[in-house]
Amino acid sequence: MNALVLQRCAECDYVANFWRIGCPRCLGRLEDFDAAGTGVVTTFSIIHRWVERFEPHLPIVLAIIELDEGVEIMSSLVGDDRLQIAVGSPVEIAPEGWSEKPQFRLAAAGSE
Ligand SMILES: [Zn+2]
Repeated sequence: MNALVLQRCAECDYVANFWRIGCPRCLGRLEDFDAAGTGVVTTFSIIHRWVERFEPHLPIVLAIIELDEGVEIMSSLVGDDRLQIAVGSPVEIAPEGWSEKPQFRLAAAGSE
């Protein structure tokens, strides 16, 4: 399982969607935590052509995902059903992907 680590402020609970040295809201100390790994698609783009080393993964589905923690990140989707993506699709961290970064998959209907 790809882990998705975010930072949360120990003072005010601000959650950062990328690594920061301190809380931008209160200058408090940020602590790493494991994100739930679930969210919904805010927007997406489907890429049919890219540089040669990405050809095995085409079409690549890039998505902005609003995580359950309330922050947005950009990631990509894996899975044979990834082209079924829509705005609002629930997604979850994929157990395996082709990137060293966490990738997502469409969450099964009705799953939590
Ligand atoms: Zn703070």
